[in-house]
Amino acid sequence: MDAPKLGEGETPPPGFVGYDADGNFVHYCPVCGAFGPYGVGYFPNKGELGKWFCREHRQIIQPTPQPAERPMQTPTRFVKPCEFCSKDLDTRESGVHQFTTGWVKQREGGGGHGISLAKREDRWAHGYCIDNETKGYTGQGNMF
Ligand SMILES: [Zn+2]
Ligand SMILES: [Zn+2]
Repeated sequence: MDAPKLGEGETPPPGFVGYDADGNFVHYCPVCGAFGPYGVGYFPNKGELGKWFCREHRQIIQPTPQPAERPMQTPTRFVKPCEFCSKDLDTRESGVHQFTTGWVKQREGGGGHGISLAKREDRWAHGYCIDNETKGYTGQGNMF
């Protein structure tokens, strides 16, 4: 075996593949000089120690891009601020209100049916905030 060997206390040059002073097999990325856990062409039986790359530069030997890792967390698309209290709400929660515009057919004697051709807007509010506002506007606050 004539594999390169590092002397005592010697700093391995970038891309060094061989043995350290203690006889451990060590391999470093030739691009940045960091320790390279990802190797190609490692055939110790033939005396070939291969080339080794760090995680960042292993694309050189593994050109297939890894899909971006998505950390699991609260999906922000469901988090909206409440229009009334400004606190965040989860739009999937029950009781949450979404601001909607549309056409309401007038009943004789007042009152309305459901909304037709409703357009939902990106405005959200807690159910209890809507209740508070409704009571505030009408001054009724009757609990049935
Ligand atoms: Zn590297
Ligand atoms: Zn609110």
